[in-house]
Amino acid sequence: MAKSVTVRAPCSTANLGPGFDVFGMALDAFYDEVTVTKKPKSFGIKIVSSDDIPLDPKKNTAGLVAAAIKKDSGIENGLEIKIKKNVPAGYGMGSSAASAAACAIAMNELFDALYDDENLTYFAGIGERASAGTVHYDNVAASLFGGFVVVDPRVNARGKFVNVTDCEVSQDITMIVAVPKIKVPKQKTKASRGVIPRNVKFSDASINLANAAYIAACFAKGWADIAINHLEDIIVEPARKKMIPGFDKVKKNAMKVGANGCTISGAGPSVIAFTEGDNFTEIGEAMKKGFKSAKVDCEIIICKPSKGPKIIKRK
Ligand code: ADP
Repeated sequence: MAKSVTVRAPCSTANLGPGFDVFGMALDAFYDEVTVTKKPKSFGIKIVSSDDIPLDPKKNTAGLVAAAIKKDSGIENGLEIKIKKNVPAGYGMGSSAASAAACAIAMNELFDALYDDENLTYFAGIGERASAGTVHYDNVAASLFGGFVVVDPRVNARGKFVNVTDCEVSQDITMIVAVPKIKVPKQKTKASRGVIPRNVKFSDASINLANAAYIAACFAKGWADIAINHLEDIIVEPARKKMIPGFDKVKKNAMKVGANGCTISGAGPSVIAFTEGDNFTEIGEAMKKGFKSAKVDCEIIICKPSKGPKIIKRK
């Protein structure tokens, strides 16, 4: 039986426009590496990391996931959780979720496949309390399964079960993520959840529903190039874009040079464009100019969909 397991889990983009809290996609850009090692009971749970993340296990997504699984399964061991961050935290690329997902998989492997996909998603989602203040599953599901995911944000009556479905995404599409170099507040995800409208016009809901349905149906059929034509979100994006300097210009520029769609990545402030063509460098340049118009520098990341996490070491 292994004493230590290391898992690499990808970053992700959540929402994909109209799929707030429901859609996610894993991105082949950055991967967090989490090693969980069994320790004596008296060790408790300890986070080890040289990166700028909370080391208190109650404030770290991976710590919360490990504690929840330990409690649920009656695991007696203490646990050391070593985290090597690669996903930049707080920029809308599912940083905390990558650690949470990697930790959930490592725990499952270390303690002999305790959970199925639905329960694993539930436990990984618990980690998001440390970053967003609330549980949500879109980023963790993408980091857990790779490709495009749909999650039901409700937990069932048993209290730990999240419906989740995933599908591989064709490598024919390319994502261009513009990560603005602005300071993000510590509680950014919480703040950006606070600006979401409480009431929605029925006709707006209907348009978002149509777009979301197209996205899910097209990805399921393997038509990624058509799915990315339906990223328009007329409910959440108009409220959240005010938190991103230059957003309108970034999006307009990306669309002008032929992006299929462009929206906020998760809770932002990164903006993500999608293309089925080979115009990704041009789109990146256009997005950069958009941010420049608001006097903001940005980093452009060009990436493909990720196939998901990997167990990279067992000892
Ligand atoms: P984003 O999805 O935009 O990357 P997150 O939801 O990941 O943003 O939130 C980042 C916040 O979560 C940071 O303030 C960070 O301190 C906190 N956090 C807690 N645990 C982790 C972790 N393991 N990795 C990254 N951030 C974490």
